[in-house]
Amino acid sequence: MNFCSQCGSAEIALRIPDGDTLPRFVCGQCATIHYQNPKIVVGCLPEWGDQVLLCKRAIEPRYGLWTLPAGFLENGETLIAGAARETLEEANARVDVGELYTIISLPHINQVYMMFRARLADLDFGPGSESLEVSLFDESVIPWETLAFRTITRTLRNFFLDRKLGNEATHVSALVRRAPVPPDLRGAA
Ligand SMILES: [Zn+2]
Repeated sequence: MNFCSQCGSAEIALRIPDGDTLPRFVCGQCATIHYQNPKIVVGCLPEWGDQVLLCKRAIEPRYGLWTLPAGFLENGETLIAGAARETLEEANARVDVGELYTIISLPHINQVYMMFRARLADLDFGPGSESLEVSLFDESVIPWETLAFRTITRTLRNFFLDRKLGNEATHVSALVRRAPVPPDLRGAA
């Protein structure tokens, strides 16, 4: 942070405020403490019969890879409204949003994914501006090697496993950054 969003001052210091435990950006002019908190990514796992709907990304990051419709929750928006909006924007699809299914913390990038089960209302869908292609997939043809995000892979793996086992669970988990492999060890394993 370079400037105070409250008063415009450049007198910003990163320090632990009195009574706090973590460093914060504090304005030296107006004393505003600028708290920074994780962003929520909300989305749907839309089903039609045995199939699930995926979108091929038309934007970076992960251009050309497949994902479930999801995006950042807006201020003033509920989780369910956000999940339905993202599905409409990315897949032009209308859904009945069901139960919250996976909640995945990504502490290294300060995000929390919240993915809902959903039922497609009809087959009138197609790519929105952020998608190249939108399609329904059977489990046997899910493009596992070209999924965009580990959160999406995990959500789909959980879903197909739960479906097989007849489980009705919500899954709370975390994904952390993989430890980097030193260059001289790459390929050694
Ligand atoms: Zn200020």
